[in-house]
Amino acid sequence: MSGTVIATHGLRKAYGAVRAVDGIDLDVRAGDIYGFLGANGSGKTTTVRMLLGLVLPTAGTVEVLGRPIPKAAREVLPRVGALIEGPAAYGHLSGTANLSLLDAAGPGGSRRTRKARIAEVLEQVGLGGVGKRAVRGYSLGMRQRLGLAGALLRRPDLLVLDEPTNGLDPQGIHEIRLLLLDLHRTGTTIFVSSHLLAEIEQLATRVGVLDRGRMVLQDDLATLTAPTGATVVTTTDPAQAARVLGDRVLTSDGERLVVRGSDPAEVNTALVGAGVPVTGLVLQRPTLEEVVLAAATGSGDRVAA
Ligand code: ATP
Repeated sequence: MSGTVIATHGLRKAYGAVRAVDGIDLDVRAGDIYGFLGANGSGKTTTVRMLLGLVLPTAGTVEVLGRPIPKAAREVLPRVGALIEGPAAYGHLSGTANLSLLDAAGPGGSRRTRKARIAEVLEQVGLGGVGKRAVRGYSLGMRQRLGLAGALLRRPDLLVLDEPTNGLDPQGIHEIRLLLLDLHRTGTTIFVSSHLLAEIEQLATRVGVLDRGRMVLQDDLATLTAPTGATVVTTTDPAQAARVLGDRVLTSDGERLVVRGSDPAEVNTALVGAGVPVTGLVLQRPTLEEVVLAAATGSGDRVAA
């Protein structure tokens, strides 16, 4: 699989006077972990629903895996694993039985193959030992992982996950992150929404930021957080460091100086040569939070840091 995996053009959804999604152009490519970031109510779920053909757009187009949605949904959706708004499962049934029900709607294969596949995805999401237990005894994290197992059953080319870590504790969030990184390594393209900046920063290769229905930012994470061309120096003698570096010092704050120049080794040589103790030296890069705040200037950004 190569090229564009999700493309929307001028995608819009209005509920009466509310513009839930206001003309967005998503561009998700094969191999991405695309982090779709936005505050609560910014339109993420509505967008995800339109990608899956569950909500009809007011205007604009959606293409998933190269085919128009909802027109080609029957052909495309079997290749897409989805998890939206928390996993739904029957509490009195086991994890395995819940997955069998999901699978029964699928394309078939022998009973034995299907059973083996269910055992395999349960193992993959870390529920191998508890597949036979009733789901009502599962923690929220386990339910979320069962939902992911369901999304993985048909070996999808694309995973679409709406806030998969919602309500999980840090350990659960960590486990889901490792699982997604693992799936990504084996070639699955992942579209994942979240209102948590730090979570997306640790996971995504590409980021889109939604603010009140509009995209304020969309680019590769590496591009967004590329070095600024300055070096950050920490020293126990900032006054002497400032004298040595002169007008190359852009800002200073306590023991921390930001210096023009993207060659830390050269800055180090200049300081150490003049007898200035250097305790830290690193290329300056903006954090995703800084980039998002700058892009959303004036809009009262509500993405949680
Ligand atoms: P959350 O993380 O809270 O789910 P979200 O970013 O997914 O937020 P949406 O659920 O897509 O946001 O909602 C975007 C806006 O559209 C909100 O103002 C919401 O109230 C409105 N909205 C969503 N669905 C409907 C609906 N079926 N009818 C009316 N308004 C809706």
